Amino acid sequence: MPELPEVESFKRYFDKTSLHQKIKKVRLSAPDMLFYTQEKDVLDNLEGNIFVETRRHGKFFFALLKKNGALLLHFGMTGKFLYYTPDKKSHRSFALLVEFENGNCLAFQDSRRLGMIGWVRDVDEFIQRQGYGADALKISEKDFVAVVHKRKTAIKTVLMNQRVVAGVGNEFSDEILFQARIHPESTANVLTAAQLKTIYGHMKTILKEAVKQNADRDKLRQYFFLENRRADLKCPEGCRGFTEFKTIGGRSAYFCPSCQKRYA
Ligand SMILES: [Zn+2]
Repeated sequence: MPELPEVESFKRYFDKTSLHQKIKKVRLSAPDMLFYTQEKDVLDNLEGNIFVETRRHGKFFFALLKKNGALLLHFGMTGKFLYYTPDKKSHRSFALLVEFENGNCLAFQDSRRLGMIGWVRDVDEFIQRQGYGADALKISEKDFVAVVHKRKTAIKTVLMNQRVVAGVGNEFSDEILFQARIHPESTANVLTAAQLKTIYGHMKTILKEAVKQNADRDKLRQYFFLENRRADLKCPEGCRGFTEFKTIGGRSAYFCPSCQKRYA
């Protein structure tokens, strides 16, 4: 599932392929994915326009238009981009298809259709209106400690709450808490400021490294739970314990119960 590092790699792909070209035609095949937007708003604002730059906030991607507002995309579980030169033989699926005047196309594909497509007049206003927290790579340590410390739910649930901090999902939250040696069910407001600073430090290190490696899991093998999301595995820390699985806040959590201490 795309989290902050994957969305950052999609952003790079878009920047390399789809900026500064006139948009000829736009097709939408998944109107159920529209997010607070009418189909007409996407088509009318994109056709004849040009993408000039991109932004990412948490797991949201924005392609800013030369004339008016921005295209908004969320990659859900299976979203991705494909830029290609069309040929008559092969059909490529898309949720949203952008045809450029130079003959090439950018497809936003999403087989499970859990992503989102929209058009926003102003990116900052949209983020504020939706109540999203600061981006996980941009939030300061002080702000992170302050917002997390207010929460009375499991720390894993808090890290994944996009209204607290934007960009961390299921897999990266497990890795961050494993590195920080804190049990995912620990209650956030019981953790000390020092413990929250430790979590913050690992969050930054892991996300930065993942962005640097273009979210390529093969290159992130030093991170145990990003590679091995299973129970009953020998803990790599040599604690002699085994990994466990548990559903926390409706999401799957993997952890080492002997390394990761639980604070009520
Ligand atoms: Zn362990």
